[in-house]
Amino acid sequence: MPDLIQLLPDAVVNQIAAGEVIQRPASAIKEMLENAIDAAATEISVILKEAGRTLIQVIDNGCGMSETDARMCFERHSTSKIHQADDLFAIFSYGFRGEALASIASISQVELKTKKHDAELGSCVEIEGSTVKNQYPVACQPGTSISVKNIFFNVPARRNFLKSNTAELRHIFDEFFRVAIAHPEVKFSLFHNNKPIYQLPAGNLRQRIVNIFGNQYNQKLVPVEQTSSLVNISGFIGKPEFSKKTRGEQYFFTNKRYIRHPYLHHSVENAYKELIPDDSYPTYFIFLEINPARIDINIHPTKTEINFLDSKDIYAVIQSTVRQSIGKYNITPAIDFDVETGLDIPPPQPGQPIRPPTITINPDYNPFEPRINHPARDHKKHIPGQWEKLYTDHLQKQEQEDQQGFPSQMDIPEQVPAQDPAIPTIFQLENRYIIARIKSGLVVIDQQYAHERILYERYLKVLQSSLNVSQQQLIPFQVDLSPVDADLVNELLPELHSIGFEIQPFGKNTFLVSSIPADLDRNEIRDILERIIENVKKNLDLSAERYTLVARTMARAAVSKRGKKLMEREMLSLVEQLFACQTPDVSPDGKQVLIKITTEELNKKFK
Ligand code: ADP
Ligand code: MG
Repeated sequence: MPDLIQLLPDAVVNQIAAGEVIQRPASAIKEMLENAIDAAATEISVILKEAGRTLIQVIDNGCGMSETDARMCFERHSTSKIHQADDLFAIFSYGFRGEALASIASISQVELKTKKHDAELGSCVEIEGSTVKNQYPVACQPGTSISVKNIFFNVPARRNFLKSNTAELRHIFDEFFRVAIAHPEVKFSLFHNNKPIYQLPAGNLRQRIVNIFGNQYNQKLVPVEQTSSLVNISGFIGKPEFSKKTRGEQYFFTNKRYIRHPYLHHSVENAYKELIPDDSYPTYFIFLEINPARIDINIHPTKTEINFLDSKDIYAVIQSTVRQSIGKYNITPAIDFDVETGLDIPPPQPGQPIRPPTITINPDYNPFEPRINHPARDHKKHIPGQWEKLYTDHLQKQEQEDQQGFPSQMDIPEQVPAQDPAIPTIFQLENRYIIARIKSGLVVIDQQYAHERILYERYLKVLQSSLNVSQQQLIPFQVDLSPVDADLVNELLPELHSIGFEIQPFGKNTFLVSSIPADLDRNEIRDILERIIENVKKNLDLSAERYTLVARTMARAAVSKRGKKLMEREMLSLVEQLFACQTPDVSPDGKQVLIKITTEELNKKFK
């Protein structure tokens, strides 16, 4: 029998490696930017066409490569950054695995032009699917330029897997930010389809953050600083009142390498605990400087996940450092940075005050004396039977649907018992549940979910029609956004407009809001926009209808929070509106809105 096993050809091996290292255009950018930094570049440009699908070019003024290196760099496991196993424990460069360029060259058409600073001529290498097509001397600038064309041209599965241009561009920007924030001393620029998108001059960290995310960051940040034998911490964190409803800007760097580390992230969140609302996220740009022998970066090909030998201690140091900075800032709110000169857009309205969730307790409430102290006695205007009728209608509708084959969790009450006018038909429990009497027993409604359902259906209607429900603002409200978010808002303008937002672009990344939807409060504008942006971002890759996303976000945002005490009149109106909805049983997010308990079920329990 012949032997079956053979070594795979290099081109195949490289493609397999590319599967891990290069998932999308953004991964190629990351590797190329890191190589440019490793080459000590002080100026780096990125040129993109069609979100990187047809062209990703990175040009740097770094050390450049010799003629031989220009050919060698595409070999698998070829690196100038380590020489022996021990070097793995003293890594200060981004690269060391020597597989990025080999991987990139196996799945695209690459043109490399490179020249060392002391060389007369540079070299050009053209390579396609791991095959060198051409190599010749060229006259070029010192440094390196790598063009990656038609990424995944020979891997249709990968190419077809790519998302929309907006989504791919987002991934690219994310990688670009990570390197640019880690290296404010380097000048960066990024062009997309010949349009300049980012121009980041060399500067300090604070200036870099402001240049990327917008001027409003000037007053949002406080420095963090701590030196210890274990780890040095530096960077900036966001003031608690500027916490965002979107995950937004959360950056950890270890020895200038961007990392994802849920455990250390938790230490920052913990430091903010009770200072920001539960559904908000702190902003942070935290740099850890640590002995490379105490970390392992080689656990994942893209090196964004790393292991710390002393993660517990680092957790504690980060938490106390962040706490300390927040505390310092609270005592001296006027802590000031060297304010940047140049164009200054006026600061936005201060963020919302911090509102911890409140639970109000009615001290007079006595469950054994419902007739005397019951909150439902507050109002006598209730016309019995009004919402009960709606509810019955709803059930009947459901029954008809059932008969047509639609499933339903509800059943129809058989008999309408005579109402005892002295017994309240509706009351509130724990300021969260509405309990109402129905013909067949009682129904328990989660008031927040109910409200969300009502608003959601209302917004959907508004979005699908052209009703005008906005309130004009006397003074337009100014919102500053990051360039990425600003792009998204520009895209969403039609949906936002039809829901009642009147928004005009006002210079770069700034918008003026002159009208807002009727049930919103001016203070909530920024919040809601942030939430909508976040929701749309999260769902960019899904094909969810944009207007359902917008309606759902608006409903969640505009909803009265749990813990609100309701008058009988308010409860009745809520219940009425709920049963006028198309789908009263579930919230827009799929949570159960109501539970029905029939008298029969009660009878069984008391047997
Ligand atoms: P690694 O970065 O892990 O060493 P790469 O495949 O990314 O592996 O790069 C291989 C080698 O090519 C690098 O070690 C470096 O010597 C050289 N190289 C790559 N990009 C550049 C660049 N922009 N400037 C100078 N040298 C480069
Ligand atoms: Mg590299």
